[in-house]
Amino acid sequence: MQKVSFFKSIHVKLVLIYMLLIIIALQIIGIYFSKELEENLKTSFQDSILQRIELVNYSIREEMLKERDDSTPEIETSLSVILKEFSKEDINEIIVSNNHNRILATSEDENQSLIGHRANYEIIRKAISSETLQDSISLDSESGKRVWVLAAPIRDTVGPNGEILGAIYIESNIEKVYEQLNEINRIFAAGIAMSLVITIILGILVARTITRPISDMRKQAQAMSKGNYSRKVRVYSTDEIGQLAIAFNHLTNRLQEAQSTTEAERRKLASVLSNMTDGVIATDRKGKIILINDPALSLLHETRESTLNRPIASLLGLDQEYSFEDLIHMKESVNLDFSMNDAPYVLRANFSVIQKETGFVNGLITVLHDITEQEKIDMERREFVANVSHELRTPLTTMRSYLEALADGAWRDENIAPTFLNVTQTETERMIRLVNDLLQLSKMDSQEYELSMEFVEFNKFFTRIIDRFEMSKSQSVEFIRLLPETSYFVEIDTDKLTQVIDNIISNAMKYSPDGGNVRFGFTVHDNMLRVMISDDGMGIPKENVGRIFDRFYRVDRARARSMGGTGLGLAIAREMIEAHGGKIWAESEEGHGTTVFFTLPYELDETGDWE
Ligand code: ADP
Repeated sequence: MQKVSFFKSIHVKLVLIYMLLIIIALQIIGIYFSKELEENLKTSFQDSILQRIELVNYSIREEMLKERDDSTPEIETSLSVILKEFSKEDINEIIVSNNHNRILATSEDENQSLIGHRANYEIIRKAISSETLQDSISLDSESGKRVWVLAAPIRDTVGPNGEILGAIYIESNIEKVYEQLNEINRIFAAGIAMSLVITIILGILVARTITRPISDMRKQAQAMSKGNYSRKVRVYSTDEIGQLAIAFNHLTNRLQEAQSTTEAERRKLASVLSNMTDGVIATDRKGKIILINDPALSLLHETRESTLNRPIASLLGLDQEYSFEDLIHMKESVNLDFSMNDAPYVLRANFSVIQKETGFVNGLITVLHDITEQEKIDMERREFVANVSHELRTPLTTMRSYLEALADGAWRDENIAPTFLNVTQTETERMIRLVNDLLQLSKMDSQEYELSMEFVEFNKFFTRIIDRFEMSKSQSVEFIRLLPETSYFVEIDTDKLTQVIDNIISNAMKYSPDGGNVRFGFTVHDNMLRVMISDDGMGIPKENVGRIFDRFYRVDRARARSMGGTGLGLAIAREMIEAHGGKIWAESEEGHGTTVFFTLPYELDETGDWE
């Protein structure tokens, strides 16, 4: 949040408002007061002068109307006496002129020479001609002070109708009134200044009581926006601001509660989403991804950065077939096939729409589930059923044709009948072998078998099997034994392991040419006994070597079947060896022979222990 600058703060604004209000109020009062005062002072000054003029006017009239003889003094002299008497400190000069505008007397000593001359005063002329009192305030050119000049006509009778005898001119010093006014105004200004200072101090204090809680709340709001809810606003009073502070603290508590609830919910949701095995993707209403959980990222082999904001259809690789609108209305799940060559990888996507009550679509939730295993199992199951049907149908078809031939009369032919019966018997035996092998595998698949373990010396056990084959062999195959002197002990189910080794040796002999060699040996590798049975036979193409342990897999189907194989021997062998904790694999070069290896955990013959 921005910091409030000093001059923009409420505090300063309030103080300024106080000051302005006080200044305006005092100004209005001051102007009104000084105007009234000025008017009053001026009027009372002028009134006092006018009253005195009345008196002097009377005296002058009497003097002017007086009958004169030699004993009476000159009019100028008597007037001069009157004027001198009348002239006081507030009157600068007083002049009397006759109605011809000739000066009869003046109170000013310096101007006595003007007596008898025409009065050069406009105001006197005006007063005589208009027969009314004239006055004006003007500046004295010598002293620069304000003077009130006044000219009043002198009549021969009292009242307005008398004949004009002359005029009286008075120049009074009104400056004193203004000086007094100025003094009062100065006092007033000092009062304003003092009250301003007091107002500012009071204003600052009063404004602080308002702004301090507000500023506290501002700081609190700032702290809250940073996630700190521990602060509390101090409540200074019970007024509206105090109530606001209480409400603010209450709001903080509620917000904190709401925040922690939301946070807890968010964490719960996040942990549910990331601990699910299924991938979850949520989009906004335009189909852009707004949320994707970790399992979805790993299922799609994507990063969060590369997926957020991407259209869902493009992320799932469905943009060619479906629009976002189609996905919203998708009722069934969609299988996403990301299989590469030999590695199958299939995801199932289920869609559900986030909808408001009004039906407005808010987004789409996609749940991804890895169904590769399921698909693989389904495929294997289908393949297995097809294989079994095929394996059974071949001997059955053969048997049917031979039996049909026998039924058609061949049973009477002594030469053919035994051969035909022989074939059907062989095929039946092969079917029995096949069914037995299948049963055995099915038992292994459902873990329904138990190994009856025995502790045997492997050298002897292996030699015994080789001897049996050597004695019963019909081919001219050379057996080469590369067995070590040291005795190794293994814990095995001898029946099951005999079956494994029998199968490997009979394969070696089956696929060996006459005069070929079959080598037997075993060594120790990585704490395991590694058994090896190798032949010089036809070999297996490189790309198929790994597959000979798969059920029903045969390199050359027709040939293998003609040799009586079921295609399950090595598959059973692998299950058995793995059940014993070992591994089985083959190495081969086409045309140059095959070597089958398997490993078994072993114990060394500790002489003391076994004797
Ligand atoms: P089968 O009963 O057909 O022998 P197996 O499971 O024992 O079934 O062997 C699977 C296939 O592996 C055989 O059909 C054969 O094509 C191939 N195979 C096994 N052993 C050898 C070997 N020693 N030399 C060449 N091919 C072999």
